[in-house]
Amino acid sequence: MSSLNSVLEKHKYDVLVIGAGGAGLRAAVEAREAGLSVAIICKSLFGKAHTVMAEGGAAASMGNVNDNDNWMVHFRDTMRGGKFLNHFRMAELHAKEAPDRIWELETWGALFDRTKEGKISQRNFGGHEYPRLAHVGDRTGLELIRTMQQKIVALQQADGREFGDMESKIKVFAECTITEILKENGKIAGAYGYWRETGEEVLFEAPAVVIATGGVGKTFKITSNSWEGTGDGHALALKAGANLVDMEFLQFHPTGMVWPPSVRGILVTESVRGEGGILTNSEGERFMFKYIPDVFKDKYADNEAEADRWYEDQDNNRRPPELLPRDEVARAINSEVKAGRGTEHGGVFLDVSKRIPAEVIKKRLPSMWHQFYELAGVDITKEAMEVGPTCHYVMGGVEVEPDTAAAIGVPGLYAAGEVAGGMHGSNRLGGNSLTDLLVFGRRAGAGAAEYVKSAGANPVSDSTIKAAADRIEAPFSRAGGENSYSLHAELQEVTHNLVGIIRTRTEIEEAIAKIADIRARSKNVAVAGGRKFNPGFHLAFDLDNMLLVAESTAKSALLREESRGGHTRDDFPGMNNTWRQVNHISSFDGNQVNIKAQPLPMLPKELFDLFDVHELEKYMTPEEIAKGGSN
Ligand SMILES: Cc1cc2nc3c(=O)[nH]c(=O)nc-3n(C[C@H](O)[C@H](O)[C@H](O)COP(=O)(O)OP(=O)(O)OC[C@H]3O[C@@H](n4cnc5c(N)ncnc54)[C@H](O)[C@@H]3O)c2cc1C
Repeated sequence: MSSLNSVLEKHKYDVLVIGAGGAGLRAAVEAREAGLSVAIICKSLFGKAHTVMAEGGAAASMGNVNDNDNWMVHFRDTMRGGKFLNHFRMAELHAKEAPDRIWELETWGALFDRTKEGKISQRNFGGHEYPRLAHVGDRTGLELIRTMQQKIVALQQADGREFGDMESKIKVFAECTITEILKENGKIAGAYGYWRETGEEVLFEAPAVVIATGGVGKTFKITSNSWEGTGDGHALALKAGANLVDMEFLQFHPTGMVWPPSVRGILVTESVRGEGGILTNSEGERFMFKYIPDVFKDKYADNEAEADRWYEDQDNNRRPPELLPRDEVARAINSEVKAGRGTEHGGVFLDVSKRIPAEVIKKRLPSMWHQFYELAGVDITKEAMEVGPTCHYVMGGVEVEPDTAAAIGVPGLYAAGEVAGGMHGSNRLGGNSLTDLLVFGRRAGAGAAEYVKSAGANPVSDSTIKAAADRIEAPFSRAGGENSYSLHAELQEVTHNLVGIIRTRTEIEEAIAKIADIRARSKNVAVAGGRKFNPGFHLAFDLDNMLLVAESTAKSALLREESRGGHTRDDFPGMNNTWRQVNHISSFDGNQVNIKAQPLPMLPKELFDLFDVHELEKYMTPEEIAKGGSN
């Protein structure tokens, strides 16, 4: 279909939100409450996003279980977890605002698990000094999405009463893929896409777009992400002229299922370790004690007796090393398996059955019990699970201005949630994503609303529409070209083998060459059949996005000659304090991704002073320490 020759479906809104996970829905609520009309567009069914899959909980320093907790402790933990590469302002806003966002969810109808005193219960998680994750069993993301959907329906009902049409001000367009963000005169003008069911094209005009498309896991072979995690928003932003920051940092969650093959990569929540699960190798050794890095030695127990006592008395004992940040645990498991101490299926054992009674496991970890029982035939109340690292989360993402979530360099473009970069530095702490979605989703909705009120409409020209329509048509007009499934499988092999959990210069260089080759061949991808119900058609677009993401990751990884968080270089095994001073900024010139190093904003004095200077010496150069933060 050439869109100009037939009747093109067109919609006009003040704000478009691409993505209906936690970040997108929170942004939509905020923009609507600012009085604007909002379209929420998602490529899956409404209610089906990664946010729904979040199990462990949402990190917020409410201090309900340990009243020593506060935003400053949370801020410190987040910066430590990210190895001080985080954008300090994002980590600060997140730590300060997360408790309010959790309370707000309760006022909208969420019901978190309670303590005996009736407060919102909070559980332990890796890298968090105190019990901090508000949770609903191990189905926290489901409650978050359910509540936010309920809030949107409430807003629609209010609009129905006021304007006679429930969808007059906020409407959901589900199963609709956005293929392009449109600009006119250098500013955002809308987005273009197609309905997945029919293949028919659709134009959305709006002066502001919030990208909230989540992560990139499907770029890798073993991942906890679902089919939606193809890095669309990262690529859409790059193509629209925005930057990505620090794309070398991918989080390999230490515990994905490893068996049977059909479920390889599916997440085993960190709550299993938070609730007392221990990791052992094939020799029965509780191996994590061997892998406590120097920077964490004062916080983590180096013997079993102390680690076990911590579950009863957290004030007088150090934490078990199973609760180290994810990057540390993932590397440790990887090393054990490589050293030949792995399980039959290439993982290690995670056992919760020895410490917790069966009925408590079923109450606190119901989804995990079901998941292993149904998918692997393992009863986790009696036996150990087999687990291994899985590509889980991307720390890199769209470079944004922290207070407004505005994408740097593109007026009218905003990004929030997993697609945005900066907040988590080189490694995200578990539980920090769900509150990131709420804090920065809200800020993105407010930022976009503010922008629209001053910028006004920016109509899309016919030539822009034609170019977007031609790109959708292109793969249908090629006969006998490349197959998108084969190219995707090739890409996943390259990323898994050459820019995965452990990297070296020669491997990354090989990856860059191979990704370039796949990208050249992808220009000739042909789609057989028509547009209706055609997954090959969908993958042709997803592939283009994943290739850009992979190129950005590989090129950033090549430049960073150190190991930090979710980036481990076998040829540069240590952290290097000089490297901590730079972010890697990816931009796209229409042909390839280019990377430049950019100085990291310096911690302001009041945040610098929250840390013991001896701790900062582990991360900062003597010159930085001497400055004592910026004024
Ligand atoms: C199994 C699992 C468990 C997790 N557990 C936790 C946890 O306990 N605590 C925690 O803090 N974090 C957890 N995380 C991470 C967290 O869930 C995600 O980082 C977070 O939910 C991402 O939210 P989001 O709103 O950014 O994107 P998502 O929830 O991924 O939503 C993305 C949306 O964008 C849409 N979309 C994508 N591309 C397009 C396109 N081209 N056009 C239109 N729509 C598009 C999708 O359809 C979807 O609606 C977990 C992740 C997984 C996978």
